[in-house]
Amino acid sequence: MPNRCVLQAQTEGQVDGKQDSARLNGVVQWHVREGGEGEERMIKPDRDPKLYRVISLTNGLTVCLVSDPRCSPLAEDEHLDDNFNDIDSADDDSEDDDVDEDYESDGEDCEDGESSDSETEEGNKRRHHPSQRQSAAALCVAVGSFSDPPEVQGLAHLLEHMVFMGNSRYPSENGFDAFLKRHGGTDNAFTDTHMTTFILGCPRRSFARALNRWAQFFVSPLLREDAVSRETEAVDSEFQEALLSDSTRWEALVSSLARQGHPMGNFSWGNRKSLQCHGLPKSLREFWENHYSANHMTLTVQSQDSLDHLEHLVTKIFSDIPQNNRPKPDFSHVGPAFEPSVLHRLYRGMTPFCYSEANVT
Ligand SMILES: [Zn+2]
Repeated sequence: MPNRCVLQAQTEGQVDGKQDSARLNGVVQWHVREGGEGEERMIKPDRDPKLYRVISLTNGLTVCLVSDPRCSPLAEDEHLDDNFNDIDSADDDSEDDDVDEDYESDGEDCEDGESSDSETEEGNKRRHHPSQRQSAAALCVAVGSFSDPPEVQGLAHLLEHMVFMGNSRYPSENGFDAFLKRHGGTDNAFTDTHMTTFILGCPRRSFARALNRWAQFFVSPLLREDAVSRETEAVDSEFQEALLSDSTRWEALVSSLARQGHPMGNFSWGNRKSLQCHGLPKSLREFWENHYSANHMTLTVQSQDSLDHLEHLVTKIFSDIPQNNRPKPDFSHVGPAFEPSVLHRLYRGMTPFCYSEANVT
């Protein structure tokens, strides 16, 4: 499974204007209501110049908008994506839409970013050109491997793969990847125990169109039967590669020690064998209908555009995600994942493991 995202919003905290507090991990830590006014305000570090706004769309999707005012606005002729009416007409699946030939894809994009010595002045100009700065989005669905049916382990992970494989509006399986490649964008996704997160980065100039295409993953994925078997192979091959990783082996060991029947014991990755079940496409469709509901999702969008602009954009693009009004998965009844005696053994085993590697980011 892919690893890290630029920006992450977690679905645990529902921000519906009625709660006193909510949790959005990643960019924003807290969201509170100011006493008596009904106004909501982000708590953020004093030195954070970014502007935040949390909104709830009519379909129940919670959205955190982040605007970075440090970057100068685009010139008039650079707002290629900013005409909302053009988003629909300008982004067909053809290969001949305009290409950002001089995009910068490394994401370090604001004035306070450091440049390497080898960069030319021209390169610096391009890097800091407003239209080439990276915008980003992350959408988190409140479902993960804990919700896998016992007879189809790895189903949440397979569905994460399948939403990339074409949708009603853009049926081409590789159309989105091709679009991002032409415009210098990146995407990724990962499945965790309670959530599945999708991330997108794209130069600001093409961001609205990329966002529009990306949103269709959640509006109308095709989940085609022939693609299911191909992606099952892709999941299996990821698993075979991961078998060589110490952390994957450690996770498998921990899962094997979970209490009988606890979802911690699920085989979250999935492989050819665990996903070999009759009616897999139907199971995928049902899983999508049950869990990929707008009111189970949290979206974060960050760009250099104003909050009003971002709100218009997101409302137009994401309001079509369906919602089923069903409750989110709840595992509060399953109790602790490990018996105390096992937990103590795990703690002792985990300590040397934790010190066996260092991550520098
Ligand atoms: Zn994967």
